[in-house]
Amino acid sequence: MTNQTYDVIVVGLGAMGSATAYHLARRGFKVLGLDANARRHKNGSSHGTSRIIREAYLEGSDYVPIVQRAYELWRDLEAETGQELLKITGCLTIGEPESAFVSGALASCQRFNLPHEYLEAAEVNRNFPGYTLPENLQAVFEPNGGILFPEQCVMAHLDLAAKYSAEIHHEEQVLRWDAPNHNEVVVETARGSYTAGRLVITTGPWAGEMLAGLGIPLKVWRIVNCHFEPAEPARFLPENFPVYLLEGPEGEYYGFPLLPGEGIKLGRHDKEDLCTPRTINRTVDPAEVQKLKEMVDKYMRGGAASFKWSLTCMYTITPDRNFVLDRHPGAPNVVYGCGFSGHGFKFAAAIGEILAQMSVDGQTTQSIEFLSASRFNKDAQLLQK
Ligand SMILES: Cc1cc2nc3c(=O)[nH]c(=O)nc-3n(C[C@H](O)[C@H](O)[C@H](O)COP(=O)(O)OP(=O)(O)OC[C@H]3O[C@@H](n4cnc5c(N)ncnc54)[C@H](O)[C@@H]3O)c2cc1C
Repeated sequence: MTNQTYDVIVVGLGAMGSATAYHLARRGFKVLGLDANARRHKNGSSHGTSRIIREAYLEGSDYVPIVQRAYELWRDLEAETGQELLKITGCLTIGEPESAFVSGALASCQRFNLPHEYLEAAEVNRNFPGYTLPENLQAVFEPNGGILFPEQCVMAHLDLAAKYSAEIHHEEQVLRWDAPNHNEVVVETARGSYTAGRLVITTGPWAGEMLAGLGIPLKVWRIVNCHFEPAEPARFLPENFPVYLLEGPEGEYYGFPLLPGEGIKLGRHDKEDLCTPRTINRTVDPAEVQKLKEMVDKYMRGGAASFKWSLTCMYTITPDRNFVLDRHPGAPNVVYGCGFSGHGFKFAAAIGEILAQMSVDGQTTQSIEFLSASRFNKDAQLLQK
């Protein structure tokens, strides 16, 4: 059994934990990062080849300053690693004019004066020849939208954290933790016991287990993504085909342009397929593939010629789809981030900075009150009245 002392222990090294470990280590803190899974695993929420980043934030304009900070930090990370982590393609948010997608994106554009164009379906189809939208749909085009390469982003944060002297342990599951006083935490794994001044918990779909006592209403959804080879690849090249979000009668979908070797990828965003990290069904049914192919056939021209592959992943959902960033009510030296509700990746660089600040500075430079866990207590109080 080991017993070593650190400034901060970060539990869970996916998108959020890897970024947190990086920001802490870069600031000179002695960091231990622990993850139950192998270094490049596919069991959580941060694997796969692409994630959308966009600024015209339809989920709430309060997110805009945070995503703007994330853009800066992703660019900094690219400069520090010399790797391409973010590719700008533009983003189309498509739906009926009154839909939550289109009205939400426009509200963020208007509040923050973001560059955008409001396009009729015919204009989308003309400007971007891979689309064949029906005329009842409209779109908000934002030129700053694009693609993050998630596995490279996580690896970049982990490698740089280690370069700044963080100790990174994979395949070491945290079994329990305790905060005996406000200056100390004790974390136990199968390999040992570690002490630190502070603890950050970023365990993604496993957060419900690790934060069980807090009563945060988290659900985990199984999500399927499919890759298809397009019949007419030129229509889907990133310079011709922005990333997109589409709200139609079939539900909420998102997708990506053609990436080398990947084909075009899409997934459904709003299908409540409840699971846990232990029970998730990793087998994709042919009917699930067919459903996604039908979306390409309906809304895209020269789209899905052949199926390439599928993958399963997990969303950790809160009732209002907003994240939770907070401090443990019984242990002020423990902070956590969870409930990223299927739209967190783009923020990871900024969330890492925020959690690092919350942990070691006691406060963050971003406005995150709307992400506090106290909103659930208020809901519970209202329900009791
Ligand atoms: C299919 C799919 C598509 C998505 N598309 C987008 C998108 O386009 N844009 C976007 O912004 N977001 C998107 N998201 C959401 C985004 O990917 C997630 O919000 C984000 O990856 C969550 O990261 P995380 O660090 O919270 O979780 P994870 O990456 O799952 O990390 C949690 C880590 O905790 C570890 N862990 C758990 N329990 C323990 C323990 N007891 N001890 C030690 N370690 C532990 C796990 O091993 C894991 O590595 C998508 C998600 C999915 C699934």
